[in-house]
Amino acid sequence: MATHSGDELAGGLTGRSIIDSLGVVPLINAGGPNTKHSGSRPRPEAIEAMEAMSEVFVDMDELLLAAGERIAELTGNEAATITSGASGGLVVQAAAAMAKDDPARIKQLPITDGMPSELIIQRGHRFVYDHLYLGPGSSFVEVGRPTDCTIEEIEAAIGPNTAGVIHLESPFKEGLGVPLPDLADLAHSHGLPVLADCASMLPPRENLTKFTAQGADLVSFSGGKAVRGPQSTGFLVGKPEWIEYARLNNAPNPGVTRAQKVSKEEIAGLLASLEAFIATDEEAETKRYRDQMNFIVDQITEIPGLSAEVKHNYDHYIPHTVVTFAENWKGPSYSEIAERLKSGSPRIYAQVDYRPEPDLMWIDPLNLQDGEVEQVAEAFRNILIDAASGN
Ligand SMILES: *Cc1c(COP(=O)(O)O)cnc(C)c1O
Repeated sequence: MATHSGDELAGGLTGRSIIDSLGVVPLINAGGPNTKHSGSRPRPEAIEAMEAMSEVFVDMDELLLAAGERIAELTGNEAATITSGASGGLVVQAAAAMAKDDPARIKQLPITDGMPSELIIQRGHRFVYDHLYLGPGSSFVEVGRPTDCTIEEIEAAIGPNTAGVIHLESPFKEGLGVPLPDLADLAHSHGLPVLADCASMLPPRENLTKFTAQGADLVSFSGGKAVRGPQSTGFLVGKPEWIEYARLNNAPNPGVTRAQKVSKEEIAGLLASLEAFIATDEEAETKRYRDQMNFIVDQITEIPGLSAEVKHNYDHYIPHTVVTFAENWKGPSYSEIAERLKSGSPRIYAQVDYRPEPDLMWIDPLNLQDGEVEQVAEAFRNILIDAASGN
């Protein structure tokens, strides 16, 4: 079966016909798997598995347990479970840290009376999604400064009401604060779990085991970014006891996470896409993206006042075309350039550095379909030439 958008289904239905009927204008997603710009394209294997899974009924606990075991096996971890996005994973991490496997406590959340409910977070690890940790009723104890933190400061913050310690891995945060292995040793010496948000850190595929190997007890990954599973999925990998607490605190059980249910079709879709993601030759994939991004660099590199290069590092999970303006740049800001791209024809979404004071923007090839690299290169070039002349 073929249900990939662009292909016509029986009845003439296409992705384009659906949005046309709603009056919604499509865009070229050159900004990566951002949820507001519809995430990533689910792999054909995921769509196929979802349709097939709709034929059967199961006991959801049995399915979630078996699917978790499969993910542990596929990723090389001791244990795993499925969540509603990496965000859902953060809510579940916090609930697990507070209620563990105590049925009365699980039922009681988000009212945390009588149980440890503080999560320690380094100031440099605060980020836009961290309020998800507060969903089940926990509160933050912030330590350190935005740029650094010492292990002594974390130890001093641990008390009888501490439920866990948070760790963030995300672009532009590399090495910030206490190294994960040291943080894990400290937390474990107090019987506390390390809750890690590593949502967007795939690829590289080696990261599937990196953070658990460094001692994190629960690591949250997104299934809807480069894994290209259903947009609403995510998964936790980690220590068997903590994965079990996470599962008990998660939907479909009634409780504070009930609104985070994941359907059997989405579970099958995530498994199929994760399998395909892991089976993909990362070197060949990287080369393909690098060639595409070099093509765009070549189209814009001569434009005065800017520099364009392909970057692939901790901040750029796959090769990106990164543009920075020189001191003498006369044109509009990065955000204005992105606005112009998004209001052009075709509409193009590009990524502006999301730190408080952006000093770069980039093109991400993850969601570019056949022919779109050329379209993006042309539109980006035209807009930058115009901008460089002061317009
Ligand atoms: C993307 C991201 C999330 C959210 O992941 P979803 O799977 O979209 O819910 C959470 N934390 C960080 C650091 C992220 O990059």
